Amino acid sequence: MSEEFVMGGKRETAFEREWERPEFRDFMKLSLKTEASWDDIPVAVGRQFEGERIRASDMYCEFGGPKVEYKGERVVIKSEEEVEDQKVEVVGPDVDQLEPGGSYPIFTLVECAGELSPAMEINLSARIHHWTNFINGMMHLNARDDIWIRISKEAVEKGMNLKKYGTVLARLYVSEFPRVHKCQVTIFTEPEKVKEHVEEMRRYYEEKERALAQMKEEDTRPWYSCTLCQSFASAHVCLITPERPANCGAITWADAKAGYEMEPTGAWQPFDPGECLDPIRGEWSGANKEIENRSGGINKRVNLHSLFGYPHTSCGCFEMIAFYIPEVDGIGLVDRKYTKPTPNKLPFSTMAARTGGGMQVEGLLGCSKGYARSRKFWQADGGWYRIVWMPSHLKQELLDYIPEDMRDKIATEKEANSIEELKKFLMEKDHPVVKGVVRPVDGKKITEGWKVGLTKEALLEYIEEHEGEIDLEECAAEFGVTEEEVEKLINELVEEGVLEM
Ligand code: SF4
Repeated sequence: MSEEFVMGGKRETAFEREWERPEFRDFMKLSLKTEASWDDIPVAVGRQFEGERIRASDMYCEFGGPKVEYKGERVVIKSEEEVEDQKVEVVGPDVDQLEPGGSYPIFTLVECAGELSPAMEINLSARIHHWTNFINGMMHLNARDDIWIRISKEAVEKGMNLKKYGTVLARLYVSEFPRVHKCQVTIFTEPEKVKEHVEEMRRYYEEKERALAQMKEEDTRPWYSCTLCQSFASAHVCLITPERPANCGAITWADAKAGYEMEPTGAWQPFDPGECLDPIRGEWSGANKEIENRSGGINKRVNLHSLFGYPHTSCGCFEMIAFYIPEVDGIGLVDRKYTKPTPNKLPFSTMAARTGGGMQVEGLLGCSKGYARSRKFWQADGGWYRIVWMPSHLKQELLDYIPEDMRDKIATEKEANSIEELKKFLMEKDHPVVKGVVRPVDGKKITEGWKVGLTKEALLEYIEEHEGEIDLEECAAEFGVTEEEVEKLINELVEEGVLEM
């Protein structure tokens, strides 16, 4: 391995720790067979650039991200005859034909042939994220149909473009994986083509998830862990079970298994979940040991199916965030596509920055949309019976997984954009959080419900805060009472001479 690819300067603690394992060093290194083979790439490529952030002011343009509806990437396994090794094509405009500063659709299709099985596709796809971040001047976030790529002005000035990006990927797949004999890359930027490929990819993932839905944690051994995101979140360890896909949504239990079989020394490692310590929260002795080992002792316990106690950690590429809303004792969900503030006034980006980057943060967690389809989705906290808000497009996407009796009780941005509006909606719909949530998994009442009631003191304080103006509807929603109750109390205060109409 060339010296320049060894982490020479500052290494992340977790990386440094993993680096001590010779197998990990072998796995992570870029072998780059000949120096000459990289002469045609105008920017440096190496592990040291991973974690490089490209701010909006430094970017030439971006592909995908929240402003773009269709974006994605995928590896497809083909026969040797179907793949022309190192063929790279851009279908649609390359960066030099795009307006600087813009956000554009993209779909990266990597076709590989060799000693490979279709079960390895998702696993190989995860490398696109990883290797794009090895390119100086390129930044890659997320996975599947949620990707966000930025290319810097400096890289474009040096001559970097999508064609060369594709060349780096095609070369790395063959040089880094002896099992990959041939690789060709097609990068689509033509909007209709991107849409077509994204839709096809979504169908493919849905089919895989349906098959996996039959498996249970209790009957499955081993489980897997992944630390690929430790370069962004140094203590983060994804625990992957048949009922809890990885945060990024890109790796299910079956993918982690295929990944391990493909590369036994790679990022996906099997472990025995051991004894079940808490079947409701999802605490297992072997899972505790695994996160302790792979987080360098930073986290020692984990509840797989609760936002509270010892929650799973978040990295940076989760598909959505589950956030506790104390004012209603409920849980909100928001995905990357929804960029406006949620009812707690915080948008996805602000909450994402607070999820802890590998630390356990109660009540604020990144997770995958696949987890929302799991039988064990936040089961200790009441599951769907505790969800109070989510963006309408996300609700539509997950509608089949929401219990029928909850579908009209979960608010979206169409009904509630503030805590007051949310309270009012939940009261009207008689959402379980109002009177107390009974969790389906064991029939136990886990929340007390709102302390509904309004005292004369509280009402006087409210009137004072609102400079004598009182909106019955708003006031009732804020205190969790009916408008009639507010009116009755006002009349009493008038009769007592405390208030004047
Ligand atoms: S989110 Fe988890 S499974 Fe996905 S790449 Fe990161 S650490 Fe691995």
